Amino acid sequence: MEKKPFVTLEQIREITETYPTPFHLYDEKGIRENARKLYQAFSWNKGFKEYFAVKATPNPFILKILKEEGCGTDCSSMTELMMSKACGFAGEEIMFSSNETPPEEFAYADKLGAIINLDDITHIECLEETLGYIPETISCRYNPGGTFSISNNIMDNPGEAKYGMTTEQIEEAFRILKGKGAKNFGIHAFLASNTVTNEYYPTLARTLFELAVQLQQKTGAKVSFINLSGGVGVAYRPDQEPNDILAIGEGVRKVYEEVLVPAGMGDVALYTELGRFMLAPYGCLVTKAIHEKHTYKEYIGVDACAVNLMRPAMYGAYHHITVMGKEDQPLDHKYDVVGSLCENNDKFAVDRMLPAIDKGDYLVIHDTGAHGFSMGYNYNGKLRSAELLLKEDGSVEMIRRAETPKDYFATFDFTDLFDEMN
Ligand SMILES: *Cc1c(COP(=O)(O)O)cnc(C)c1O
Repeated sequence: MEKKPFVTLEQIREITETYPTPFHLYDEKGIRENARKLYQAFSWNKGFKEYFAVKATPNPFILKILKEEGCGTDCSSMTELMMSKACGFAGEEIMFSSNETPPEEFAYADKLGAIINLDDITHIECLEETLGYIPETISCRYNPGGTFSISNNIMDNPGEAKYGMTTEQIEEAFRILKGKGAKNFGIHAFLASNTVTNEYYPTLARTLFELAVQLQQKTGAKVSFINLSGGVGVAYRPDQEPNDILAIGEGVRKVYEEVLVPAGMGDVALYTELGRFMLAPYGCLVTKAIHEKHTYKEYIGVDACAVNLMRPAMYGAYHHITVMGKEDQPLDHKYDVVGSLCENNDKFAVDRMLPAIDKGDYLVIHDTGAHGFSMGYNYNGKLRSAELLLKEDGSVEMIRRAETPKDYFATFDFTDLFDEMN
């Protein structure tokens, strides 16, 4: 499928009069339409709720948009909990799915009334010691081990993943928690990441639904919700077929009616914790070509670098690039598109066929709305960019300012030194 930016060259020219490149830009309209489609896909399930994985795009303006669309938040750290609270999320609108959890984070999550999802059976003791009790609503994370396959294709390797409890442990955990006063139980699992197939959720759902029936029958614990977590991916590459969330919702419904309803569990609420699917396509990184270099390869140097978007450097991830204004020109130049870090993996694209790029051209790097800005860092003393929101009425709002050197130096007590320097 042809990948088109949600922003035009004219808009970028106008934006850069106020905000210099590089910046992350988000598309409010796209975010809202996609969220509505997700809710439509699961409208058959009475208690359905999406808990947006805050780590994907931890920005209060984005969280508020999602809140208006009915979403809660999925947090895994103190500051994510704090941000959720500041955005008005409360009680069971917050899921706390963490691992290796510091006890004070359990305490804060419980103070907010969040649903706590335990990653391990040993966390029961930690939670009880921290709170002095076990909450009435509690969730446990499951890991079936082995490999996770869909029609003989290995999707991921849960047996190698640090998360979740074994089948024996989750059953034991339910017994212990029930004995300590828990009343509403949840089951959670995240077994494959960035899947681009409509079969992931239905396949995962079958595993979890069958487990839920077993657990309820064996332990008498009332399963109130099943959390399918994240993992529904996006088509980063133009040759990939994007997921069809309506087909995914329908696929899950079939399994629900096949497994849960006959077991008398037709009242179980379904939750999701999507991050990438909710935001990735609705964000892009806008950068400018500032250098060209002709050595053993052809390089285009841009004003963004891996600190703004780490996925290509970290995973060799593909991010599509559009050279703005040259959409109709032939892709007859082979480039490495690179940033300025003193790290040779700081490449947004390697051997990518693109139109001839001139200095000053704007490049849109696609699908950076999730796990883009949020994975940013400060290596080489580079500063994080601004985040901008393209609103439904076409106007642009800065939703996070760019860092300045002062931010970079803020964690030193440098006052004397600066005074001397000035
Ligand atoms: C990262 C994460 C998610 C979101 O994953 P996506 O691939 O962005 O959908 C959801 N739940 C948990 C527990 C996670 O760690």
